[in-house]
Amino acid sequence: MQLTYQPYELLLKHTFTIAKFSRNSTPLMLVQIGHEGHIGYGEASMVPYMGESHQTAVEFLNKVDVSQFQYPFNYGEIISYLDSIAPDNPAIKAAIDIALHDLDGKLSGLPCWQMLGSNPALMPVTSYTVGIDAKEVIIQKINEAPEVKVIKVKLGRDTDKELIQTIRSVTDRPLYVDANQGWTDRKQSLDFIYWLQEQGVKLIEQPMLKTDIDGNAWITEHSPIPIIGDEAVQRFADVEKAGGVYHGINIKLMKSAGMHEAKRMLDKARELGLKVLIGCMSETSCATLAAAALAPQCDWADLDGPLLVTNNPYKKPVFANGKWELNNVPGIGLDAG
Ligand code: MG
Repeated sequence: MQLTYQPYELLLKHTFTIAKFSRNSTPLMLVQIGHEGHIGYGEASMVPYMGESHQTAVEFLNKVDVSQFQYPFNYGEIISYLDSIAPDNPAIKAAIDIALHDLDGKLSGLPCWQMLGSNPALMPVTSYTVGIDAKEVIIQKINEAPEVKVIKVKLGRDTDKELIQTIRSVTDRPLYVDANQGWTDRKQSLDFIYWLQEQGVKLIEQPMLKTDIDGNAWITEHSPIPIIGDEAVQRFADVEKAGGVYHGINIKLMKSAGMHEAKRMLDKARELGLKVLIGCMSETSCATLAAAALAPQCDWADLDGPLLVTNNPYKKPVFANGKWELNNVPGIGLDAG
C-alpha cells in the first residue's frame, strides 16, 4: 500500500464569518492510498480554529506507515494505531480513513453507502449555510442557491434578529440556526428561541459555550425546537456525555477522525435516543460524498461544502431536489477526473 498527498487551498465563494472567526479559504490535505491498481481518495479539511494545518498534517503523515495495513481493513485497529501516533489531528486521520473506505469499496466492488448499511431513498435534504454578513451579501447568497430547500444561518451577534428578518424578506424556506457557542444568557436565549420558532427555525446548534453543560442542558429542557451539540461533541467518547444535555449531536468526519468512528457515534446516539445531524467543514466532493454515504441514517444533513467553494478539484456530485444523490460506483463514488 502506498500513501501520497498534496496540500491544497480551497477557496470560498464568499468571506465566511461565524460568531468568533472569519476566513476566505481553508487549507486541505488531499490524500491517496494505492493498492493493487486501485486508488482510494481521502481529504482533510483543516479549518484554522480546530488547530490543524498543512504543517501538522505533513508531520502526521510522515509518521504513518501504511505498508502495515492489511486488506480487509480492521478499521478499529487502524484508528487505534493513528491515535497512538498523536491524540488529536482528527482531520488528517479522517483523510486516511476516507481513503481506506474508498479503496475498500473499489477492492470489494461496493459503494460505501451500501458497506455502511444506508438506504439512498432516505437521504435528507442538505442545508446551505449563510454566514454573518451585510444585508445585500446575505440576499445575494440566498439568491445564488435556488436549488437548496433549507438555509442554515450562523448567529451569535447582537444583530441576530435583523439577520433572520433579512432572510425572511427574500425566502420562506425552513431555517437551521447555528449559534456556535455565541449565546450567554439562558433566559434571553430561550425567549429568542421562541421567536425563532415563529420564524420557521427547525433546529439550533450549540447555543452556549460547550463547557457550560448546565446552561445548554437548561435550554434543551425548555426549548420547543431541537438543540444540537456540535463543538461539545467531537469523537465517540463525547456522545455519551451529550445525553441529557442536548436533543441531538452534530457528527462531522473532520471531528470524528473519519467514517468508521462517525458510524459508531451514530449508532451510539441512537442507543441513547439522540437525534443526529451530519455536518461538514469547507470540503470538496471527496469528504462530502464520504459523509453522504452515512447521511441517510441521520435526521438532518448539512453537507454544503461543494456548494460554497470555487476550486473544487473534483466533479461536483449530482445535487437534485435539495439532496446529494448517491450512485452505484464502488467506493465513495468520487469522479476524480
Ligand atoms: Mg455548528
